[in-house]
Amino acid sequence: MFRACVLGSGSGGNCTAVWTSKTRVLVDAGKLKPKYILGELQRLGLARIDAILVTHAHTDHIDRTTYELASERRIPIYCNRTTWRAAKSKTDDLKELEMGSPKLVHFFDGAAFRVGDLTVKPFGVPHEGLGQRNGRQHAGAPVGFMLEHESNGRTCVLGYATDLGHVPDEVVDHLADSDALIMEANHCESLVDQRGAFHGPWVKSPVGHMNNYDTGRVIVKIVRGRPNGPKPLRVLLAHISQDHNTGARALRQVGEIVKGCDVELAGLHLTYQDRRSRIVEVGR
Ligand SMILES: [Zn+2]
Ligand SMILES: [Zn+2]
Repeated sequence: MFRACVLGSGSGGNCTAVWTSKTRVLVDAGKLKPKYILGELQRLGLARIDAILVTHAHTDHIDRTTYELASERRIPIYCNRTTWRAAKSKTDDLKELEMGSPKLVHFFDGAAFRVGDLTVKPFGVPHEGLGQRNGRQHAGAPVGFMLEHESNGRTCVLGYATDLGHVPDEVVDHLADSDALIMEANHCESLVDQRGAFHGPWVKSPVGHMNNYDTGRVIVKIVRGRPNGPKPLRVLLAHISQDHNTGARALRQVGEIVKGCDVELAGLHLTYQDRRSRIVEVGR
């Protein structure tokens, strides 16, 4: 068993803490205030952090906040090269982390790697910036993660996938063995249409963000496609749009699909932009 807690999630900033008894990592650390992140970590009893894993180069995931945490606390950043290049082009300070010794930037470029007693398996996800060629919106090469920890002969698995326009079958396959899943339910399509958004066509595109119903359908596929037989799945809905969704709507619409398909979850919970989520026990 290990634990995870989403400290903040959404286009206003993202950071998730994941920890075993020995190892503590953050998935993304963008846009939220470093003071807020450090305060929450302290409340969770996580004074030392061993790594920051970066999903992609949008500034709500990696920016000056990431730099400040990494440089002040000497926390290594794990990132793929394309994402790092795109992030540096937006946040100049990040370059400094490549200098000096030991280096604070590690590239994973697709392969699984270890941080302490956690195994991290990155996988590519379909997500681009609004006008990907515009440097400031460049997403790099976005990934999700499987985070795995072995205890008492059992592997406990957390799936992490936010910021993706759709979920291809190979991504469902990656996520299929999760005990817990942090997955985005970004928007309600009818709210995007009603309220309008200059970036509406991008948000709804296959390289934008997931809508609530599609997220529900992916959860159903995951539960039905368990490679090693049925097991409980606990889900946290993340990256909920403040303009085109609400927590209640995300829960209702995802829940409708899941219940309509007769799928039982161990839990379906929200994450928030401005406060931390419940603590999830992965594998319990
Ligand atoms: Zn984002
Ligand atoms: Zn993004």
